[in-house]
Formats: sequence, structure tokens, C-alpha cells
Amino acid sequence: MTDSNSSARPLEGQVALVTGASRGIGRAIAETLAQAGARVACVATSEANVTATAEACSSHQDGARAFGVDVSDTASVEALVKGVSKEFGGIDILVNNAGITRDQLLMRMSEDDFDRVVGVNLKGTWNFVKAAARPLMKAGSGRIINIASVVGVTGNAGQANYAASKAGVIGLTKSAAKELSGRGVTVNAIAPGFIATDMTADIPENEKAKLTSSIPLGRMGSADDIAAATLFLAGPTGAYITGQTLIVDGGLSI
Ligand code: NAP
Repeated sequence: MTDSNSSARPLEGQVALVTGASRGIGRAIAETLAQAGARVACVATSEANVTATAEACSSHQDGARAFGVDVSDTASVEALVKGVSKEFGGIDILVNNAGITRDQLLMRMSEDDFDRVVGVNLKGTWNFVKAAARPLMKAGSGRIINIASVVGVTGNAGQANYAASKAGVIGLTKSAAKELSGRGVTVNAIAPGFIATDMTADIPENEKAKLTSSIPLGRMGSADDIAAATLFLAGPTGAYITGQTLIVDGGLSI
């Protein structure tokens, strides 16, 4: 029989670090994990940007805190992960969600647009996985969830940099799963489809309508759809899943 309290707060006593938590998908993930009982270290480019998320998390579970870092900066990420581990007494769940787009057709894409998108999306994820791997392996348990994109599976015109970075995140996820799963740490990716956030807000309405009409479930996804999948992988429900990419796209890629 399931203990109703533990199923309502399956992450009670755990610490989660969520990047890109100031808004959109990351904010929904941070709040969902806090509602499930986790103390959440909320990370964005600046502490001020993510204070509101930390406050919202604290209303569900005491002890959330805001942190600012550029995820592409290896030394700063190492220092942040050390600081969070010390202050929170460890990290049980790492969610690499911070990401950016700089869309342009391949022939017009600048080197800087390529480097920055890969630097934030792929190297930023690698920075956190590497920095957190040692404490997680030492603890002998833990969850790493990397937010990729369905575009990393299918490719997309105008997004060569972004698609490459997200395909890289999927490869990184599988490799890290092979290295860490023997020490009790699962590593998985979630590949969202077309989700309503700031990242997609500027897409012209006619293009949005066209895209939405190609989604079998007939609507854009919400940040909460991705947060629910993250909770599934972070909680006891995800215990026997590693190295996988869970596509959450309303059927867009089928
Ligand atoms: P969003 O609303 O644009 O939010 C992006 C988040 O990333 C913000 O919290 C931002 O922090 C943070 N961030 C950006 N660059 C950073 C850096 N260098 N260092 C630290 N934090 C940084 O994006 P979203 O739509 O919620 O997307 C979240 C993730 O889902 C991304 O990885 C994205 O690629 C992925 N995804 C989104 C969609 C979609 O349709 N929306 C689809 C597939 C995958 P600040 O507020 O401080 O700038």
C-alpha cells in the first residue's frame, strides 16, 4: 500500500538545483519540485532575476534560495555547485534547463551565434553535470535531468546552432548515464516540443497557428507539461530509467 503522505510529497528531504529557473519551463520545474517537498536552489543569470521563483518555492517548502551564474562559465559553475552543496548539505536532483536561441539560416549564421548557443545550452549542461557528478556519485544516488529539445532529434531549418546544441545534450546524457548509473545516479533528457514561454512568444501568430495545426494533440505545450515529466523522472517513478530522452511534444515529432 502507498503511503499517501510520501506520494503527495515524494521529494521530501531532497535538494534540487534548477538552472534557468527565473521564468518559463525552469520556473514551473522549480515550483513543482518544491511542491513535491524538495528544497530548491534556483539559478538564473542573476540572483535578482530568480528571487521571485525562490520565494514562490519557499511558500511550498522552506529553504529555497536564489543564485546567479552564467552557466557557460566553467569556474563560476564549479564554485556555485560547491557553495550550494555546502549550504544545502548536498544535491540530490540536478535539472539543467537554462537555454537560449539565436535563430538564423545556416548561410547567414555568425560564428558568435553558433558559439554562444552551444556555449550556454551544451557546455552549460556539461559544466553542471561535471561539477555535480562527484558529490552525486559519492552519495551513491541522485538524478540528473537535462532539458534538450525535440529539435535536437529532428533538426530544424534556421536552428542549426540550437539543434546541434540539443543533439549534443542528448549524447552527453547517454554518455553520463553510462558513467554514473553504476553509482546510483540516473541521467535522462526531456525533449520538449513547442511550449508557450518567452522563448516562443515572438513567433508571429500565423506561424504559431501553422505549427500548432501540425501537433496531433492540437495545442502548444505548457511549462507545467514539462515540469510534470521532470517530476516523474526525479521521483520514485523514475527509479529504473536512465540514459533516455523523454519526448514531450504533443505528438509533433511522430
Ligand atoms: P526562457 O523562458 O527563455 O527562459 C530561459 C531561462 O534560461 C531563463 O531563466 C534565463 O535566465 C536562463 N538563462 C539563459 N541564459 C543563461 C545563462 N547564460 N546562464 C544562466 N541562465 C541562463 O526559456 P524556456 O522556453 O523556459 O526554455 C527552457 C529550456 O527549455 C531551454 O533549455 C530551452 O532550450 C528548452 N526548450 C524550450 C522549448 C520551448 O518551446 N519554449 C522547446 C524545447 C526546449 P534569465 O532570466 O536570468 O535570463
